[in-house]
Formats: sequence, C-alpha cells, structure tokens
Amino acid sequence: MTIAVSPDAHPTLVLNADYRPLSYYPLSLWSWQDAIKAVFLDRVNIVSEYEAAVRSPSFEMKLPSVVSLKTYIKPARHPAFTRFNVFLRDRFECQYCGTREDLTFDHLIPRSKGGLTLWDNVITACSPCNLRKANKSCREIDMWPRQMPFRPTVQDLHNNGRLFPPNYLHESWLDFLYWDTELEP
Ligand SMILES: [Zn+2]
Repeated sequence: MTIAVSPDAHPTLVLNADYRPLSYYPLSLWSWQDAIKAVFLDRVNIVSEYEAAVRSPSFEMKLPSVVSLKTYIKPARHPAFTRFNVFLRDRFECQYCGTREDLTFDHLIPRSKGGLTLWDNVITACSPCNLRKANKSCREIDMWPRQMPFRPTVQDLHNNGRLFPPNYLHESWLDFLYWDTELEP
C-alpha cells in the first residue's frame, strides 16, 4: 500500500508555521503553481527548492519543494472520517481474518439494523469476510473484530502511517517527515 505522488509534477510540501506538515493524511502537497501564487501573496516562506525553474524573459524562479505558512493554523486533533483513514487506523488489514487483500468496509452493527457509518461502527474487512458476515451482528454469526472500531486521533494515524509511506518523497521533504527509511524497523 502506497500513496501515489508524481515526482514529475514537482509538488510542494506545505508546512505549518511550526515547520510540521499541515496534514499527513493526505500529505499536504500543493501544485508548484499554487505554491508560487502563495509566495507572491506573501502567505508562505520558501524553505527549499527544486533545481527546476519557471522562466520568462524578465523572470526566473526555482520551483519551491517545501514552503511554510506565515500564519500558524491550529491542527485538527481528529482526522477526517475517510475510507483511507479507516484503512489506516486498521493498518490495511481485515479485522476478522487479517488479510491485506481485497479490502472493503463492514458495518459492525449492520446498516439494516440501524448501524451508522461512523468511526465506531465501520471496520476494514475483506470481501469474503464481509460476504460471510452479511447483515448479521457479531453475536449472531460469532465473528468478532480483532480491534473494536474507535475514533482515532491524528497521533494514532501518525503511528500507523509510519508503516505506509508514500511512493515518492523528495529528499528536501525528509527533514520534515517521519517517513525516514532509516527509521523503519
Ligand atoms: Zn477477512
């Protein structure tokens, strides 16, 4: 499992005013066009640059690879409820059998019985387990998740995120990220 980032696009890593990424999931990346716009609007400082540059007859500017906001934005304590973040909380493992193949979502309390699509009722499940459980409760079919679903903090996802780095990280980003391959176990 990797997060797709294209190096050819020269994406800009966006840091908060404290030099931490504005967001990890997804990683806060802007297009270089948006980054340059923000430079001219005086909203960001350039922290690091690519070799590549934009040129016109009267102007040349290296593409920013890292920028930091001039004004600190208070980070959210709880991450957004997204499919990706549910997978990440569950480490991309079926919570019934542990496989990482063919993953989908299961409602612990089935929707047909009033179960809601919320952090504490949605878990990662592979298609076969999902089919087997169908619209039964855990008790009815005696299938129990390895970990009861919960609303994670940003820190919880950071801890799991170490295991799933994006497919591409520009070297100038590494000082600001914890996805350092040398730290991997
Ligand atoms: Zn399964």
